[in-house]
Amino acid sequence: MKQHDLLIRLWGVRGSYPVPGEKTVEFGGNTSCVEIRNRKHRLILDSGTGIIPLGEKILREYQADRENGAEETLHLTVLLTHTHHDHIQGLPFFAPAYQAYCSLYLFGPQLLGEDLLSSISLSMEPTFCPVRFEEMNSKKIIQNMTDTDKLILRNSGNHPTLYNIREKVDDIAPEDLTITAFRSYAHPKDGVFVYRIAVNGKSIVYATDTEGYVGGDSRLIAFARGADVLIHDAQYLEHEYTDPANPKQGYGHSTIEMACEVAKKAQVGKLILFHHDPSHDDDQMKKIEKIAQGYFKNSVAGKEGMEIWL
Ligand SMILES: [Zn+2]
Ligand SMILES: [Zn+2]
Repeated sequence: MKQHDLLIRLWGVRGSYPVPGEKTVEFGGNTSCVEIRNRKHRLILDSGTGIIPLGEKILREYQADRENGAEETLHLTVLLTHTHHDHIQGLPFFAPAYQAYCSLYLFGPQLLGEDLLSSISLSMEPTFCPVRFEEMNSKKIIQNMTDTDKLILRNSGNHPTLYNIREKVDDIAPEDLTITAFRSYAHPKDGVFVYRIAVNGKSIVYATDTEGYVGGDSRLIAFARGADVLIHDAQYLEHEYTDPANPKQGYGHSTIEMACEVAKKAQVGKLILFHHDPSHDDDQMKKIEKIAQGYFKNSVAGKEGMEIWL
């Protein structure tokens, strides 16, 4: 990688459940997972099934790096928006989590009064999963994050540190990754985290599983203002959202128009439509991308394998 480059790579763009098959080959069928890399660190947003092929790639790269003298410990940071299945179902199959040389840092909100650790452990109880979370061999460091926290990944260090947002942290350099969170309550039952990742004057906002409000979600618009890239939930077409026979209002997801409204009002550089409905095949996804570009020109429909360099 070139110095200071920031890379976004999409590994899973689908909402709700995975949809493999010939009709989703182009956009992909895996559920939510986004990789963000800068010169030194690797951040993973959500652990839907997209994290499984990412984990395999990480291990291949680790072996090659070790042969070139890289340090033994593999440090990985995962940020979870919430713990609905489509955002955690890849975690039990994330190969690095089984490696004793891996230090896995997991952050996310407390939901419905449950600590992140207890929600994840519960999802891997023996009735649901053959391996318990604590049986995975990596060193796992799990912390609840709140929207009054900021997470710093220093370029000079190898692990993330959580600070209060008001705390004055003196030694932050422009090339350090700074992550802040915004709690959106527009998702059942206890909301989600929207993350903003900033480094070297560049920023990415990851806003999945959030539903729009009339006139746009003003708190989200403020949080996303001026971001270079906004990854936003765009699960529904307008007619699906308002279908009287099966309305999707209140499901906690946005229409294409809602995503574009946030992008436009927040004056972001680029919009990536995300959390595609499992019923939308490749042909529909291409139409959806066109619809979005009519509202916000610099829109693309997120695709598995898509890379965006900043
Ligand atoms: Zn979801
Ligand atoms: Zn959800």
